[in-house]
Formats: sequence, C-alpha cells, structure tokens
Amino acid sequence: MDKIRMMTPLVEMDGDEMTRILWKMIKEDLLLPFIDLKTEYYDLGLANRNDTFDQVTVDSAEATKKYGVAVKCATITPNAARMDEYDLKEMWKSPNGTIRAILDGTVFRAPIVVKGIEPCVKNWEKPITIARHAYGDVYKNVEMKIPGTGKAELVFTDEDGKERRETIFDFKGPGILQGMHNTTTSIESFARACFQYAVSTKQDLWFGSKDTISKKYDHTFKDIFQEVYEKEYKEQFDVLGLEYFYSLIDDIVARIMKAKGGFIWACKNYDGDVMSDMVSSAFGSLAMMTSVLVSPDGIYEYEAAHGTVQRHYYKYLKGEETSTNPVATIFAWTGALRKRGELDGIKELVWFANALDEATVETIESGRMTKDLALITSLENVTVLNSDGFIKAIRGNLESKI
Ligand code: NAP
Ligand code: MG
Repeated sequence: MDKIRMMTPLVEMDGDEMTRILWKMIKEDLLLPFIDLKTEYYDLGLANRNDTFDQVTVDSAEATKKYGVAVKCATITPNAARMDEYDLKEMWKSPNGTIRAILDGTVFRAPIVVKGIEPCVKNWEKPITIARHAYGDVYKNVEMKIPGTGKAELVFTDEDGKERRETIFDFKGPGILQGMHNTTTSIESFARACFQYAVSTKQDLWFGSKDTISKKYDHTFKDIFQEVYEKEYKEQFDVLGLEYFYSLIDDIVARIMKAKGGFIWACKNYDGDVMSDMVSSAFGSLAMMTSVLVSPDGIYEYEAAHGTVQRHYYKYLKGEETSTNPVATIFAWTGALRKRGELDGIKELVWFANALDEATVETIESGRMTKDLALITSLENVTVLNSDGFIKAIRGNLESKI
C-alpha cells in the first residue's frame, strides 16, 4: 500500500519523560509506516523550554492558530524539585496553561470505553464527556498571605479613574486572600463551545455551578449559558431532541452518580480539573482518557489527559521493564489525524485514524493489555505486555485491517 499523503502539517508538540518515550514508539511503529506524516515539530520537553526561555511553547501555540490542528505529548509542569533536576533558569509555567491562554478554548475529556474494563459506577453505560472551561478563575488568581490585622478590599478602577470598593474582610489576625476573575467573552465562548460540541456529537449538555452562594460570579456563568442557549442553540437542540440541563453543582454531582452516561458535563475550570480525574479513574484508568482543547474559532489541540508518568520513567531509566499504557496518547494522534483528514478532505486519513482506534480497542478486548488495565479488567486469560509489546500487538491488528 502507498503511504497516505497529507496536505497540511499537524503541529506536533513533543513532551517529557515516559510519554516522550511512548511518543517515539507510536510514531515509529503505528504512524510512519503507513502515513507520509507531515508535522511542524516543536520540542516542548522541559530542557528545550528552558533553553528557549519557554518561547517554544508560545511558538507552538501560534503555529496551532495558523494550521488549526495540534497533537501534544504530556509535559512536566515545573515545581521546586524540577528546578534542581533540570537546572532551570525559571520555574516555567504550565505549557497547557500557556497554550490555553493563547487559544482560549474549552477542554473536552472523554473516557475510551472498552469491553472488559467496566466503570466502578455500575450504571455508567456510556461515556461521560467533561467540558472544562480553560480560562481564568483560580488558574489566573492573585493571592496574598496576610501577616496580621488589617482590612482587605476589592477595588475596581474604571477607565475614568472612578473607584468601586467593597470590604472583603477585616482581619484581626493572620490569614489568606485570593482574587479571581473571568471575562464575559471567555464565558460566552465556553458556552458556545459546549453547545456546539453537544450538537456535533448529538449528546445532552449538563451544566452546574454554585450560583446560590456565588450570586454574581457563578450566577453570571448560569445566565450566560441560558442566554446563549436560548438565542443560538435551542432550535437545533429541539430538532435533534437534545436537552440542556442546568442545576446547582451539588445536584449535578449527585445525579451523575445515578445517570447512565452519554452526555456532556460542562464544568467551570476548577470543577473540570478535579472532576475529570474522578470520572476517568471511575471509568477505569487515567490512561484511557482523551482530551481535546477546542477554541472558539475552531482550532483543535489533542492530547492524553494524564501526565508524563514520572514513576515509570525512573524505572525505565534504571533499565527496568515498564508497562505504561499508550492508549490515550495514540487516541490523541488519531484525533488530530482524523480532524486534519476531515478539514483537508482526505478520506484515507480519516479511515486510518478510525482503523488505528479500532485496532487499539480490539487488542485490549482480545486480552492483551498493559499492567494498569490488567489489574482492573473483568476479562480472563489476560496477557500483560510492556509498552513496546502492546504497541507491536496493535501494529499486528492494524496491518490485518490494511
Ligand atoms: P501522571 O503522569 O498522570 O501519573 C500518575 C500515576 O497514574 C502514575 O504514577 C501511574 O500510576 C498512573 N498513570 C498515569 N498515566 C498512566 C499510563 N499512561 N499508563 C499507566 N499508568 C499511568 O501524573 P503525575 O505523576 O502526578 O505527574 C507527572 C508529571 O506530569 C508532572 O511533572 C506533572 O506536571 C505532569 N502532568 C502533565 C500533564 C499534561 O501535560 N497534560 C497533566 C498532568 C500532569 P502507577 O505509578 O501506580 O503505575
Ligand atoms: Mg487535574
């Protein structure tokens, strides 16, 4: 078979540690033999971010704006320990945070459902997709430690220099303080991204916030969603028989546990960060969760929802065998290739992406899997493979389809 040709390059963002090792294996064994792979490569590995003063992250996000589709490997977000480990000039910000701030999108996370890996929540029959607002709130906060007695105030100065002031708290002793913001534009585009994704995947949309306590901040999210729904999406929802459902986040959480799945759960930034880990682990494994950032102007950045799997990497460096699950990273590549194929009208590329997804799922369903899945599967006679062996098994399945 001739290799599948591409027209427009994918923006390829390489990353760190164990996922960087998997990245190379996936390209060599599952992509390059079949596709004339066109990518514009950006090395977001921590060493190169440090060498370029993190300019490479900004450049990769700008390239994503230019080409429209990116695929990203997991990357280290530096902390104090990483400063020494990588001899860093600065504690560089989270690349995902930088990319999200430039693309201003919504992150959709959905579990990859396979037979033999049953969710711990018995009634979850279909995937629950989390839509996480990727801008503002606690991720763009300003914080202070308050040493002692004094008054904390919220001050807004408008363009004419006029001030509005409210007392936050009269401290009588030490404490802590935090200021957060969001913008109407960003919340509107979050709402649109969610309604649009619901329409394109034909799923209901649920949204919850703490509007009873946060009568201005969270209530604004609720109001904007309602307005965007009524003005722009209600008709389409009615035609497709879809439902938009708003409730207090407490009620949403309780209902999620009783639901069957098969809908999108829109979450404010922090809720989405935390709840996506709960949903993914309840569906089986962090390594079986996909993630895509969709910007309001239709730009897509695909990645795995998990991190760089540091613990496995240190074992790998010692020459020990590792069985790290590459599935979410494979699905990041297939998501990006499928979208590129759709945008450029390359049917073979779309077909290939679907075939690789199926080959991956079928490998697991035939009882060959990595250790994380072997520990939780209901299948019998399972073969536990290391990462390389598992990728080779997928390759075998893929070749039989081609
Ligand atoms: P992690 O890399 O997601 O791993 C946490 C644990 O989950 C692992 O130790 C492993 O459990 C299990 N796990 C995750 N992915 C797996 C896979 N593919 N196959 C098998 N097991 C898997 O999170 P972390 O250890 O907290 O973070 C490591 C680094 O990743 C940090 O530097 C963090 O900044 C970064 N990070 C990056 C992103 C991103 O780029 N999107 C997201 C999160 C974290 P066992 O050890 O029990 O096997
Ligand atoms: Mg998280």
